[in-house]
Parts: sequence; C-alpha cells; structure tokens
Amino acid sequence: MSSSRDRRTAGPRNAPRPGWTEAERLEALDGYAILDTTPEAAFDDVAQLAREVCAAPIALVSLVAAERQWFKAEAGLGLRETGRDASVCVHTFREPGLLVIADLTRDPRTARNPLVAGPPALRFYAGHPLLTPEGLPLGALCVLDTRPRPDGVTPRQAAALAGLARQVMAQLELRRALRERDRALSDARASRDDLHLITEAAPALIATIDAGRVYRFANGNFAAWFGLDRDGIVGCPMRAVLGEARYAERAPYLERAFAGETVTFEARASGEAERHALVRYVPQRGPDGAVHGLHLLGVDITAEKAAQSALGDTALKFRAIAESMPQMVWSTRPDGYHDYYNARWYEFTGMPAGSTDGEGWNAIFHADEQPEAWRRWRHSLATGDLYEIEYRLRRHDGVYRWVLGRAMPIRDPETGAIQRWFGTCTDIDDQVRARETLARGREELEALVRERTAALEAANARLTAEMEERARVEAALRQAQKMEAVGQLTGGIAHDFNNLLTGITGALDLLRRRLSEGRHDNLERYASLATTSAQRAAALTHRLLAFARRQPLMAQAVDANRLVASMDDLLRRTLGERVRLELVVAGGLWPTLCDPNQLENALLNLAINARDAMPGGGHLTIETANAHLDDAYVAGEIGVRAGQYVCVSVSDTGAGMAPDVIARAFDPFFTTKPLGEGTGLGLSMIYGFAKQSDGHVRIYSEVGQGTSVKLYLPRHRGEAALAHAPAPSLPPPRAERGETVLVVEDDATVRALIGETLGELGYQVLEAADGQAGLGILGDARARVDLVITDVGLPGLNGRQMVDQALAARPSLRVLFITGYAENAAFGNGHLAPGMQMITKPFAIEAFTAKVRSMIEARA
Ligand code: ADP
Ligand code: MG
Repeated sequence: MSSSRDRRTAGPRNAPRPGWTEAERLEALDGYAILDTTPEAAFDDVAQLAREVCAAPIALVSLVAAERQWFKAEAGLGLRETGRDASVCVHTFREPGLLVIADLTRDPRTARNPLVAGPPALRFYAGHPLLTPEGLPLGALCVLDTRPRPDGVTPRQAAALAGLARQVMAQLELRRALRERDRALSDARASRDDLHLITEAAPALIATIDAGRVYRFANGNFAAWFGLDRDGIVGCPMRAVLGEARYAERAPYLERAFAGETVTFEARASGEAERHALVRYVPQRGPDGAVHGLHLLGVDITAEKAAQSALGDTALKFRAIAESMPQMVWSTRPDGYHDYYNARWYEFTGMPAGSTDGEGWNAIFHADEQPEAWRRWRHSLATGDLYEIEYRLRRHDGVYRWVLGRAMPIRDPETGAIQRWFGTCTDIDDQVRARETLARGREELEALVRERTAALEAANARLTAEMEERARVEAALRQAQKMEAVGQLTGGIAHDFNNLLTGITGALDLLRRRLSEGRHDNLERYASLATTSAQRAAALTHRLLAFARRQPLMAQAVDANRLVASMDDLLRRTLGERVRLELVVAGGLWPTLCDPNQLENALLNLAINARDAMPGGGHLTIETANAHLDDAYVAGEIGVRAGQYVCVSVSDTGAGMAPDVIARAFDPFFTTKPLGEGTGLGLSMIYGFAKQSDGHVRIYSEVGQGTSVKLYLPRHRGEAALAHAPAPSLPPPRAERGETVLVVEDDATVRALIGETLGELGYQVLEAADGQAGLGILGDARARVDLVITDVGLPGLNGRQMVDQALAARPSLRVLFITGYAENAAFGNGHLAPGMQMITKPFAIEAFTAKVRSMIEARA
C-alpha cells in the first residue's frame, strides 16, 4: 500500500473543494463536453499508457454523474457505461490523491460492487481523481486488475497515474477554453451580423473612415450612393471613390472632423439625376483620446429638396397666374391676414403697394357692405367655407364699383389644414347695373300689369254696369211694350167691358124704372142679368190677372165632367144658334188638380175661338178623357212630364190654322182678327194656365178642316171637391151681442158698401179711411173690436203694417184682409198667421158675410 504522503505528492495540484454539489459537477462535466461516451483518441492514448505503465489489464478514464458511470476512454474492459454502483472511483472523490485498493473483494467499500462480485470479477484498483481547477472531482483515471495486487503500485506507477490524470484534465481544460472562445466568437459574429442588418436596414448612408482616409466599413446604401457594392468601397481610399473634385469639397469637413469636431454638411452626388444628402462626420476616438477614424452618417434628402423646389415652383406659378389674371387677386395666411395682392388690385384701387395688407383693404369697401363682408369672411375663416359676396369697392377715382369677391382655402393634401386663402375680386358693376335695370324693368312691367288689370277691372265693372243698365232698360222696354200691349188690351177689351157695363147698367135702369113704376114683374130677371154681366166682368179681370201671373191660382180637385156640364148653358148662349155643341164626357174620369175658374175661362175662350173660326156655323165638340202621356210623347215636348192626365179637348169644324199660325198662336197678342175683335191673349192665357197647373196644351189643326185644342191637366189622386157645386141659398148670418167690426178701406164706396152690408146684419161697424186712422181706433184699449177688415193696399201705412203694429196691443186680433192682385206680395206667398184670413177682390157679398161670421164665431 502506498503512504498517504506518496499519494499527496502524486496528487493533482488542487485538492477537492469541500461542499461541492452534484449539480455543480454535472454542469462542469457539460462544460468540458464529456457527457457522452464517444471515444476520443487523446484519452485512449492516456488510458493505453496508464495500462502499460501499471502493467494492468484494464485502464479507464472514468466519469461519474447522477446514477451512471461512463468511460471517456477504456482499455481492456470492453464496457463503456455502467451503473454508478459499479463505480470504484467514487471513492476517490473525497480523497485528495491516488486511491489504491489491493483486493477489492476484501474491501467492504467494494466487495459488493457488481464488477467485483460478478464478471469481470475485478480484484485490484488504483485510480487518481480528475479534479477541475476549481477543485471539483469529475471522475478518475484508473487501472484495474482481475488479480489482487498485495503490493499495490510502485511510486513510479503512482506518479505516472497522477501525471496522466493531470494530462486528462489539461486536455479537458483546453477543450473548455476552446469552446468558450468559440462561443465568444460566435457571439461577436452574431452582434456583428446584427449591426450589419441594422446598418443595412437603416435608411441612412453609413460608413467608417480611418485616419488614412480609407473606407473601413460601408453599408449597402452608402455603396449604392456611388453605384458600387460594399466590396467596391471597403478598403478603398476616399479620394478614389469620390473623385478629385468631390474629395476636394469634402476635404475641409474631413479636416475639422479629424480635429475632433462633429461636422454636418449637405453633399451632392451627380449622376443621371442630381441627388442630395445631409452628411455628418462623427469623430471616432481611441483609448488614448486621439481621433483615429470617423463615422459617416448620411441621409438622402433628394426628395425633400425636390419637394422644396417644387414648392418654390408652385409659388412662382401662382404668382405668374395671379399677375396675369384680369381679375384682382389676393391671398391671405390661414388666419386671414392679407399678404398678397396682384397688380390689378393696386391698379384698380390706386393704393400704394403693401398698404392694403392685413386689414388695410377694409377702407376701400363701401361702408354699407362692410359688416356683411366681415361677417362672411369671419365665417369662412372659422369654417373653411367658400367666401363669396358682392360689394362695392372704391376705385382709384373715388367711384364705387360692384365687385364679386370670392375666396377659397388651399389645404394641405395630407392633414387637410388650411395653408392659405386664395381670393379674387371680379368687377361686375355692369352686370349688377344691368340686373338692376332688368329688375326695374320688371317692376315697371308689374306696375303696368297692375295698371292694366285695374283698367280691365274698371272696364269689367263698367261692362257689368252697362249690362245691368241694359237689363234695366230692357226690362223698362219690356214694361213699355207691356204697357203698350195693355193699351191695346185696354182698347181691345174696352168693347167687351162696355158691353158688360151696358148690360149691368141697362139691367139696373130697367130695375129702377120698374120699381118707380111700382111694377114687380121681371125684377128677378133684370137682377140676374146685372149679376151675370158683373160676373163676366169679374171673370175678365181674372183672366187678365192670370195672364199677368199676378192672380194666384187656387188649385183644387176638380171633376172636369161636372165643370163642363155646368157650363152647358153659358156655352150654348155664347156660341149662338148656328153652332151645334156636343159634350162627350168620359165615364170614370179621374179628378184633376187645377183652378176651376181658370178652366172655365179656358173652355169659354176656346169655344169663342171656335165660334170665330166658324162664321157660317159648324160643330163644336167638347170631350173629356183620361190620358196617359208616355215617354215617347213627352220626349218631343219641352217641360212636360210623363204620367196620367185628364184631357179636355175642344174641336171645331172651322177654318183651321196654317202651320205658321199654329206656331205663333200661343204668343201673347198674336191675333189674326181685326182690331177691336181679337186680343191675341186667349190662347196665351190658356198656355199659361196649363203650365201653371203642371199640365200641357197642344193644337191640332188643318186649314179648311177644323181645329182641335187639347188641354191636359194632371190627374188628382183624391176626392174631387164639390167646390163648384152651387152653394145652397141660406139667409146671411147675423151678428149677435153687439159684435164690432173695424173696416179700414180707402175707397169710400167700397167702405160704405161693406159698412152698410155689415150694419144691416147687426154688426157694430167702425170705419177708418187709412192705416193710421185704423191704428188710432185699435190703440184705444176701451174700444171693442172683434174683427178687423182691412184693404191691404192703403195709402201710407198699408193694411199689413197697420195690423203688425196693432198686434202688440191686441195679440189675439182677428183680421180679414181684402187683397187685389198687387198686394199678394205683401204676404210672401200667402202665409198668414192664425186668426187671419184673406179674401180677394172682387168678391160676392154672400161669401164675404159668411167669412166674417165664421171668423167671429171662431173667436168666440
Ligand atoms: P184671339 O182670339 O183674340 O185672336 P187667341 O189667342 O185666342 O186670340 O187666338 C189667336 C189666333 O189663333 C186667332 O186670332 C186665330 O187666328 C187663331 N185661332 C185660335 N183658335 C182658332 C180656331 N179654333 N180655329 C182657327 N184659328 C184659331
Ligand atoms: Mg181668342
């Protein structure tokens, strides 16, 4: 066994550092790149040498970590890796030097080692730890034998093992150093690459220049600047790359930079297109502080230069355009400050150049437009809206002229910010004046139109007035014609009327004569003669009034058969002996609705016409029949309704009528008879009657054959009244208990007649000649008045007005109005208050007294 001293002598320079950890060891093993089992020739040589020196069959460069033992070199064992439990060398980890175990089977530390207990059945071990300079044991260099060696190793063998172990560590150290250097190198390379990338990516020209004015580095941009690649730059003198002329330009900057100053200057490179760069030389100082090179940094400013010069161009162009324009041109800063006017402006205004800058222009504006111009200008400045206004601008001669001012903002294409305002003033004075003239023209035109309209209206009014006047004149003319007709009529009927009066007066004379003679024969006959004549006179006035349409028709249900039959006697007497009358009445004849008096008149007239048409005699037939006017019939007539009618026809065998006579026969005053014989009113009155009765009349006639006139009157659905039945002759009703009647009548005869009649019947009669007098009596509350009989047509206050006033004091007053035709209007179509009635002149005394009695009784 070797002594401990030997082992120390033979051990490595470093002792194992106490307190190391397995993790540290593992890191160190990794640092030496020996975690794998790859054989390395250098270690194999060491192992081989150790085996030979120690004459041992096995030598190993053994490493242990975690749970394994592996051999970086192995000679004689035939294993490259085992479990840690098979490691003998672990025992050297805490030993400072060589560990020798003479018989492994006898050492308790190793006896159960699998390599000892089992094959290859190792018996001897001698190993030296592999210690790092830091004192970490990595493993061991060891020799092994399958036989025990009681003598251990010789000192020379121990020294050799220690030396070889150091050799292994030396080699590992070398490897580590190399690896570290490689890593540092690759780091450096990486950062150099980064730098390269950066310099290449930078939009800059980058280069370094050494003291000898030679390019030592250049990025691609820098090389490209000269149309070269980097290899064409690096290592080349500046003078060669730049050329003499450019190098001479640079020389002063280089001097200053090498003198320690950072220099910036603008450099130009001429090629196909001129390019510009902003270049900076930055001195590069060595550890000694001396400048031994320069960094060159450059920026290509070609585009900026171009933009700048383009801007300059734009300004120039603007000025050129502005000056050449016929308008006044101005421009302002974004804040509205006027800083430019073209020559036209100064020519127009006569102001000295520059004097209108800022707000100087304001003075030239007409005061009237200034507030509005400012308002709009401020608005445009605030909003960027187009500025536009018409205003008057003072010319150099003091004359104000209308100008159209416009301005628009010029904006930065990228930011949109307003850079300037560009404005013009256009002289529009002529246009404005033309416009005003036009407007004036329009006003004049409008005035003219107004005038014409007024004239037209006046003319229209005049025309209307004229038309009204004309209508009035026409009406007057018609009235005059009518009056003339009435004159004719008067002449025409005077004869008839005289006859009637003669009949009346004659009969009355006869009556008086008989009475004076005391004779009473024929009295009744003469009285009835007078009555008949009077009735005919009344009928005549009725006819005239009906013709004038001023006599209200009293339509009622009429039995035409009965009416015709009742006229038989009258007709026969009228027609004379030469005309044979025949009445043909229909059975089952419908009642008709009409005024029976008018119908009588109509029949009488037709009979007289027939008689006139048959001077030599002939036949007259009056016929009644139910008739139905159908649609086909009424279609050919105007104003006729289809329906059921009662037809009364009057036919003769007389001269007949020519068509032109038929056509005019209904015209008023149309007559073919000599003056004094015909009035021409008969047929027209019949026509009027038919129309007023909603009926129809038609003539059928042939010259030489005769004439038939058919009168159609509407069917009445209801009972026919007995209106025309002769009233039974009863004694006139007498007054009772002093009943009082007030008679208001302006005609003294009529008033006396009425008064006498009523007085004979026992009434108290009060008489008044007019409305005022009547009111006087009615106003006396003490006066008894049971009935007022008043004419409507009174002078001054008419009967109606008088009654209206009296009603206030006597609300239940009974009144019997006596009306002529003209007064009907006073009753508005005859609506009478209760307690009031009307009787039309002329009237029969019996009818009158009966009405008076009935009214007084109704009161009672
Ligand atoms: P007047 O009988 O007064 O002449 P009318 O109006 O009654 O007026 O008649 C108008 C005219 O119609 C008559 O003048 C006559 O020429 C003609 N006329 C009327 N009825 C007949 C008739 N039955 N026959 C022939 N002519 C007639
Ligand atoms: Mg006639």
